[in-house]
Amino acid sequence: MRVILLGPPGAGKGTQAKMLMEKFKIPQVSTGDILRKAVKDDSELGRKAKAFMEAGQLVSDDIVIGLIKERIKKRDCENGFILDGFPRTNVQAEKLTETLRDMGQTMDAVIDLVVDPGELVARLTGRRTCEECGCMFHQTSRPPKLPGVCDYCGGKLYQRPDDNEETILKRLAIYERETAPLREFYGRQGRLKTMPGLGSVDEIFSRVCELVS
Ligand code: AMP
Repeated sequence: MRVILLGPPGAGKGTQAKMLMEKFKIPQVSTGDILRKAVKDDSELGRKAKAFMEAGQLVSDDIVIGLIKERIKKRDCENGFILDGFPRTNVQAEKLTETLRDMGQTMDAVIDLVVDPGELVARLTGRRTCEECGCMFHQTSRPPKLPGVCDYCGGKLYQRPDDNEETILKRLAIYERETAPLREFYGRQGRLKTMPGLGSVDEIFSRVCELVS
């Protein structure tokens, strides 16, 4: 099963991708996670991406397309994968279609999680992420049992540097300009499934599962 999770920052793509990964035993492929790790490791890739990420801008198409091409050819992606945060531009979507075609594959579903902008800002400003396992919490709607500590692995929770209001608004504007047009791209391919990203995490997950099965 090959799925794309579309939707603006804060729509819940990461949370849903992790749940799909558990259920279907296929990897979550998040360009944001790959880039954040590169920044943390201070690799050449990380040094190229850091300033763009902190400013809430997109990293160049060439860089992320290169990352994805390499990642989805790995053995653990043989039975499928969940793309989270990729593609984000028309060029990325076209290159993905081309790469999959060369591999004799297609996407099965593109799920567009719809959440209104006010809710997205509230979700992102309160978001806290585990440094170790990447699990996500929210200061008010999903607080950890112990402040600052991950319920699952005991890792330290941190606030992403791009989860501040000014950068969030920039990211949402870039989403509307660069990524929202992909709804049309995948709509034309007959792959787009739109659903509200509201309700409890489990309610959203059961809707996602209906759409991918
Ligand atoms: P995310 O974790 O998906 O919110 O991504 C965090 C940041 O990483 C974005 O704001 C971009 O700077 C960069 N990024 C992640 N995925 C992409 C992508 N597909 N294209 C360009 N930049 C990306």
